[in-house]
Amino acid sequence: MNKSAPLPFTKLTDGILKVDKINFNKPLELQIHLNEQPWLDKILYDLIKENNPSNNKESKNNDGKLLLDIHIEKKHSTRLDDYILIKGKIEVAYPAECVRCLIPTSQSISCEFSSCFIKSSFEKTPEYKDSTEIYIHSEDRDLHFYKGHEIDVKGVILEEIYVNKNHFPLHDPDCKGLCSTCGENLNNSDCGHK
Ligand SMILES: [Zn+2]
Ligand SMILES: [Zn+2]
Repeated sequence: MNKSAPLPFTKLTDGILKVDKINFNKPLELQIHLNEQPWLDKILYDLIKENNPSNNKESKNNDGKLLLDIHIEKKHSTRLDDYILIKGKIEVAYPAECVRCLIPTSQSISCEFSSCFIKSSFEKTPEYKDSTEIYIHSEDRDLHFYKGHEIDVKGVILEEIYVNKNHFPLHDPDCKGLCSTCGENLNNSDCGHK
């Protein structure tokens, strides 16, 4: 498949997969880079903004990197009705301030996920109501439910990034931080305050 073909991307507009727009047993392989899908760019933008709280200048996505490889397959069985398998690999790199001294650092996330979306009518059934995983097609996959004809792929990606990112980036594990009295960077000098 021509990876730069615009057509498949319309199926993931705003990070929402339209289930009724994809065909059964015709796997969809997408590789999405920076500047190709606004909703994905926004995820990187928010990550940069959140991790650079003292930097007031507008967050620029050019300071980061992002790549999403995603494989989508729609299937049907008598047991599960219509279900969707989604596997993905996310790679993100972004600048982040050290949480103690605010020196710029760079962070990266590389993670993979494998999910199965089944209809929300299964959500209350004894078999699935307490399940977070499902073993299907020789693999354990995260179990999700979808309503109507939409799957929130963006939600899955946000969750993966949240779980895998470094919530406390440090420029050095021994960073001494800033003096709470005078603001001096204690890695550079000792101001004498306690
Ligand atoms: Zn630091
Ligand atoms: Zn001080």
